[in-house]
Amino acid sequence: MSAQELCPICGEGHVTAQVQMVESDYKGHKADLPLHYKLCDACTSDFAGAAESKLNKRVLMAFRKQVDQLLTGEEITALRKQYKLTQAQAALLFGGGPVAFSKYENDDVAQSESMDNLLRLVRRSPAAFWALVEEKGMQSEFIRPRVSVHSTAKVLASVPISASRTDLHYDHRRTRRFSQGVVPCH
Ligand SMILES: [Zn+2]
Repeated sequence: MSAQELCPICGEGHVTAQVQMVESDYKGHKADLPLHYKLCDACTSDFAGAAESKLNKRVLMAFRKQVDQLLTGEEITALRKQYKLTQAQAALLFGGGPVAFSKYENDDVAQSESMDNLLRLVRRSPAAFWALVEEKGMQSEFIRPRVSVHSTAKVLASVPISASRTDLHYDHRRTRRFSQGVVPCH
């Protein structure tokens, strides 16, 4: 379909979508990023339309976030899904305005450092998530899992313990050597 698009410059040729890797530089970090543009087969004009410009901006923003050590759009989507939040719920909970999460996740804008810190904290800690839900009075929006955070932690903690018991069973010498440095857990 795009192959049939008429060239807006000469009005005779047809334009096709092109991608070229172009080196970008941000704060001394270099990366080859895909640059999207259109090329006319008659007048050989190359240009970026609205769609290409948007794509190029997102690619560049994703690279900048990476350099600035901010969560990527993909990571924010994953965090939101981890807690089964809609973008609207995420905005109510974390702030940033009604369309903030759509923009963060599409790499249209970079979240602030403080927003990034808050997201990282909640990504790491379900307890922090539920505390924030309470702070914002949003308990009715979410169904808290039946297993409490405390007993979940217990279940998780038991995994390495049982693993080391297996170790003890199969390799006494190795376990004895390791156990010297292990703090007793009972
Ligand atoms: Zn043309």
